[in-house]
Amino acid sequence: MKKFLLVTNSGQKGCRWHIFQQGDEECLCKKYSAGQVDAKDSQKTVTDGELTELLWEDQSPGLGSWAETCREKTLERLTGEKQFSCSICGQPISNISGLKIHVSRTHGKPMEAAEEMAAKGGA
Ligand SMILES: [Zn+2]
Ligand SMILES: [Zn+2]
Repeated sequence: MKKFLLVTNSGQKGCRWHIFQQGDEECLCKKYSAGQVDAKDSQKTVTDGELTELLWEDQSPGLGSWAETCREKTLERLTGEKQFSCSICGQPISNISGLKIHVSRTHGKPMEAAEEMAAKGGA
């Protein structure tokens, strides 16, 4: 499971969340480097599954919205590398929203079941 660091400059108007993959020196859109991250900035660490869900549903993790390029690049990386699969029937599904719909419609399971599958890494 990969971890991502979300950072926003909460002191500025119109702040934007940038996304760093753990271990990377630059955010995904390359506008922000790890050296520029200030201790005062809002930071949040999430797993790849949690991040995929936030990005798909276009929910920002708090104040401000996503830096659009960073969001797109991160989604590309996440969905390009990641395939979820249903742990009940094994069907591959490319994103967590699809997985939720699949488990609820096909298997009559609650949405939480899909979240658990995704948290375990899906595929
Ligand atoms: Zn960025
Ligand atoms: Zn299934």
